[in-house]
Amino acid sequence: MDPVVVVGSGASGVHFALTLLRKGHRVVMLDVGHTRPKPVNPNDSLNALKRRLNDPVDYFLGSNFEAVILPPQKKEYYGFPPSKSHVFRQRKEFDHRSEGFAPLVSFAAGGLAESWTGGCYPFNEQDLEAFPFGYDELRPFYSEVARRIGMTGTKDDLARFFPMHDGLTEPLLLDEHSAVMMETYLSRSRYLNEKLDCFLGRARLAVLSRDAGERKACSYTGRCLWGCASEALYTPAITLRECRTWPNFEYYDGLHVDHFRFDSGGQVRTVVAKHADGRTQEFAAGTLALAAGTLCSAGIFLESIRKDSGEVLQLRGLMDNRQVLMPYLNLHMLGRRFNPNTYQYHQLAMGIRQPNPADYVHGLVTTLKTALIHPVVQNLPFDLRTSAAVFRNLHAALGLVNINYPDRRREENYITLDTDATKRRLVINYKPEEDEAERLRQMNKRFQKTLWKLGCIAPSAMTHVRPMGASVHYAGTLPMSTSPAPLTCSETCRSHDFKNLYFVDGTTFPFLPSKNLTFTLMANAVRVGERAF
Ligand SMILES: Cc1cc2nc3c(=O)[nH]c(=O)nc-3n(C[C@H](O)[C@H](O)[C@H](O)COP(=O)(O)OP(=O)(O)OC[C@H]3O[C@@H](n4cnc5c(N)ncnc54)[C@H](O)[C@@H]3O)c2cc1C
Ligand code: SF4
Repeated sequence: MDPVVVVGSGASGVHFALTLLRKGHRVVMLDVGHTRPKPVNPNDSLNALKRRLNDPVDYFLGSNFEAVILPPQKKEYYGFPPSKSHVFRQRKEFDHRSEGFAPLVSFAAGGLAESWTGGCYPFNEQDLEAFPFGYDELRPFYSEVARRIGMTGTKDDLARFFPMHDGLTEPLLLDEHSAVMMETYLSRSRYLNEKLDCFLGRARLAVLSRDAGERKACSYTGRCLWGCASEALYTPAITLRECRTWPNFEYYDGLHVDHFRFDSGGQVRTVVAKHADGRTQEFAAGTLALAAGTLCSAGIFLESIRKDSGEVLQLRGLMDNRQVLMPYLNLHMLGRRFNPNTYQYHQLAMGIRQPNPADYVHGLVTTLKTALIHPVVQNLPFDLRTSAAVFRNLHAALGLVNINYPDRRREENYITLDTDATKRRLVINYKPEEDEAERLRQMNKRFQKTLWKLGCIAPSAMTHVRPMGASVHYAGTLPMSTSPAPLTCSETCRSHDFKNLYFVDGTTFPFLPSKNLTFTLMANAVRVGERAF
């Protein structure tokens, strides 16, 4: 019997594969699979690394200073360190021409989530309204994924937006700045809830607060951005490693899947992949599951149809969360020192209730500790020397709210192939809704007001609307549908165009709530594995 072939080892692919392996299926995973470097001095804290490494500049900024965000890239506050360069190393086969969209794809073993910030937010009944199932269908799979990855969370004011499920352990210790914000919130929560519809609480995070097997609980080294050496912070490479211990699993890396071949009855027969040196290899597939990430899965699907009939289709309904970055200064923290020995990413989340619950707006509050600081310094409205001095004095009081907006499938946002190009090139088009700018302006004001009530100033001039595509929460191109229309898939994510083809990444989402989607990607991938195989 031909195996189930899975393309991609990201968060979606590995959890789908593990589910099938446990059920006794033979699984072949095809992946580009760039691997991460070994962690340096795994027991050192961030500051110890700075002191003890022979060449700390090389480690933190790169041998060619490639991690430095230069001033023309105004207002981007995130940079990727050299230790994560494998996550964004490209393959020459991936090419795109994009309008209104800045795509980011990963060819790493583990995919984009090798550099994620671990926020895990279950969708609730309202988020799932456009899906062919509700929260009860997903709940056991959220619990299963939470147990697999190790996840912290607690029941607080945000439980009205993030339903509770099993598998949560106690949250990490709060850094001082987050604790101060939480305290202020609790003293003013009535006003914030009733007048501003704003709720604050603990983030749900894919990080260990207790040891789990070989993985150690977070020891507050402050190295999260550079890669967690103890694997307290979950990444999909951990699950890929687990898959590789199963005798019924075969993993082929270094392969870029170009297309699949199918017969006249709509049955996928083989998958065609290319090695880096241009050699082609073909794999027999009993069933094919595309988990290459929404954009790359679209590329494989479109190319397969073009190779067969010459027809170039458009996949409509591409979605991504618009993100707004809002830096702020917490007046309660002025004069205090920051502690570098803390968890580095967001520990608090902020929810804004909307009249239509599906329009819920989701904020992640990151207090500044051991991040790359030069992107912040260069955005201060002073010369470099003054900005650096001001920054040193304000460091512990600085923070950033990352505001995420929902998105809906719209016809004008699509992915297709460039018919003029001599090699495969994706064409990605995205146009925001006409009233978007005004909606963002109103909501930014609400966040500024909320922050003010929490004792924080958020200067409008520093708020930055990120380009569409920057949130890397891509979805919606071949959505789940209860009617078997072409270019859609079933409730169990089986293609309505090809009998033995499944999509197990964001491709199938019919709506994109504002909450980061990866926890739901993983839970849905497990659900497909359980329900359809
Ligand atoms: C900086 C950053 C922070 C983030 N933080 C969060 C967060 O806090 N919470 C959250 O929910 N999400 C977050 N995300 C988003 C999250 O990383 C993605 O949603 C998630 O990784 C998507 O997983 P995936 O498996 O569907 O696809 P991907 O991660 O894109 O994985 C795709 C896989 O397919 C393989 N592949 C692709 N094309 C081919 C091909 N043609 N042939 C063979 N293999 C192929 C790649 O090698 C890779 O293994 C963040 C992303 C970034 C970049
Ligand atoms: S999660 Fe971050 S703070 Fe915790 S041990 Fe890992 S790198 Fe250190």
